[in-house]
Amino acid sequence: MSTINVTCPHCGKINRIPAKESYTKANCGHCKRSLLDTHPVDVDAQKFSQFVGGSDLPVVVDFWAEWCGPCKMMAPAFTSVAASMPLKAQFIKLNTETAPQIASQYGIRSIPTTIVFKNGREVDRVSGALPEAQLRGWIEQAIRKN
Ligand SMILES: [Zn+2]
Repeated sequence: MSTINVTCPHCGKINRIPAKESYTKANCGHCKRSLLDTHPVDVDAQKFSQFVGGSDLPVVVDFWAEWCGPCKMMAPAFTSVAASMPLKAQFIKLNTETAPQIASQYGIRSIPTTIVFKNGREVDRVSGALPEAQLRGWIEQAIRKN
């Protein structure tokens, strides 16, 4: 049986789980909470690495900041797309004010910027606030890229 590594959205620990088309139940072996929780996770630099470097699933990152109006406008769309993709992709939010070293490492010049990573590697990015339908379409095509 093939397995995949996923990062727990609650405690950040890596879990090895069976690779399946869909899941009815999957709990973290460390904190026992559900790995199916889709609410985007607010990450610091350390948790960012646990997701981007540790998860076998595509990781969708929203680079944002508190002062950024368009970022706040896009937040509900990001949350809603995340809710429809449990264990298809992992959704995280990086505050560029609290983790500026990560923002600078990826050359984030304007926010919001959304980046999709696979196995630690950037596969695509888009800048600017997208309405939900466009955001969903963009994410779906980005996670299919290699
Ligand atoms: Zn956990």
